[in-house]
Amino acid sequence: MKALLLTLLLSSCVTTFPPLAPCPHSAETEFWKLADLLAERLPTGRDVYVGLVDLPPSLLGLTQQMPLSKAAFISVDAEQDVNGLLDTLVHEWAHAMVLDTNDGDHGELWGVAFSRAYRVKLELFAQH
Ligand SMILES: [Zn+2]
Repeated sequence: MKALLLTLLLSSCVTTFPPLAPCPHSAETEFWKLADLLAERLPTGRDVYVGLVDLPPSLLGLTQQMPLSKAAFISVDAEQDVNGLLDTLVHEWAHAMVLDTNDGDHGELWGVAFSRAYRVKLELFAQH
């Protein structure tokens, strides 16, 4: 099942000549590249919606089962640097992979899923 990706905060870079500053949204570009790669390499058996959102200060990410469906919704706090965005997505993707299990928050199955998801992040960096 292919994951569905949803950008909640759409943003784009304005190109000027000469360039005024590096595009501030490259972190988001990397984030969506990783989301695509995770969906391709580690299908979860459910639709996965991913959103960059404004979460409360104590929360970097959250994975929830959507009501009335098997789909998962991953929320990632947008106010993070690129490493924070990617690491949070890896962490939450692992939750989406084991959502139906009784593994607890960060049990053994989640740990294995996290390891596999983290290796996909490494694969993304190897593409650079
Ligand atoms: Zn967690």
